[in-house]
Amino acid sequence: MTEKTRYFSFEFFPPKTDKGKEKFRTTLKTLGRFKPYYFSVTFGAGGSTQQGTYDTVTEIQRSGHQAAPHLSCIGSTRENVLALLNRYRDAGINRLVALRGDMPSGMQSAGEFRYASELIEFIRRETGDHFYIEAAAYPEFHPQALSPDADIENFKRKIDAGANGGITQYFYNTDAYFRFIDDCHKIGVDAPIVPGIMPITNYIQLSRFSDMCGAEIPRWIRKRLQAYADDTVSLRAFGEDVVAAMCETLLHHGCPGLHFYTMNQADAVSALWQRLELSRYQRA
Ligand code: FAD
Repeated sequence: MTEKTRYFSFEFFPPKTDKGKEKFRTTLKTLGRFKPYYFSVTFGAGGSTQQGTYDTVTEIQRSGHQAAPHLSCIGSTRENVLALLNRYRDAGINRLVALRGDMPSGMQSAGEFRYASELIEFIRRETGDHFYIEAAAYPEFHPQALSPDADIENFKRKIDAGANGGITQYFYNTDAYFRFIDDCHKIGVDAPIVPGIMPITNYIQLSRFSDMCGAEIPRWIRKRLQAYADDTVSLRAFGEDVVAAMCETLLHHGCPGLHFYTMNQADAVSALWQRLELSRYQRA
């Protein structure tokens, strides 16, 4: 049976140490064999990884893959953002993930942009249609959102400002994603919204992240992960079952693709890819 084409992407963070760079290169090589649509690279809070993001993105491009830098605007100026956009354009980059970001502790000024929608508007104004822009979407709602409706309206504002689509915060409850999509449709937003998928490999790390970003780990999953304690083999096997089942449901119901948060690790994502036979969804 021919499957409808879906778009799969892998997210990295810019490595800092020599060991981290080595790990990134090995992971890039392993995941590159799956020929993802693109790799994205995060941007540290307040621009702390600006050069690292640039270096990582251009290295990915040199290895023959499409790369998309994340770009966050908090603490930044228009001049600074424009200089970065020009650098990316000169390097042949034509995709971006545009974000507000979070104020790093110690940073005094929020800069010249308040929200991601303002950044997206600025990018469109300055660079026309050069970049395919994706914005963040929150099926379980952003922690600072005034209300669920206000957050959905904010996603619409980002699309209206010129974003082509969205990538979601990770979640383990597909109803939240489908409801979010339905709610977007109701207010006229039909842009593709790709679910962000976080593999489950480490309970402590996952629960820390989830507390910070407002993603919920459902009780039945949390209880089991806690019970595995140091039994990482069982924890990973369970995590793979849960995430694979979730991806199957999402694909079955027509999500446009999947964006994997790799944490610069290849194993969990490779296992999911092979188990779900994702290559069958890619255009030959
Ligand atoms: P916004 O869309 O600006 O929203 C931020 C908050 O403001 C929301 O609560 C929204 O409802 C509210 N809001 C927006 N506009 C208004 C308005 N006009 N009036 C009132 N309230 C408003 N962070 C990084 O630092 N680097 C990264 O590389 C990175 N990559 C990410 C990738 C993805 C796919 C996702 C989902 C998140 C990523 N983040 C990253 C995290 C992100 O920066 C944070 O979640 C941040 O707190 C919000 O960014 P945003 O772009 O969603 O902001």
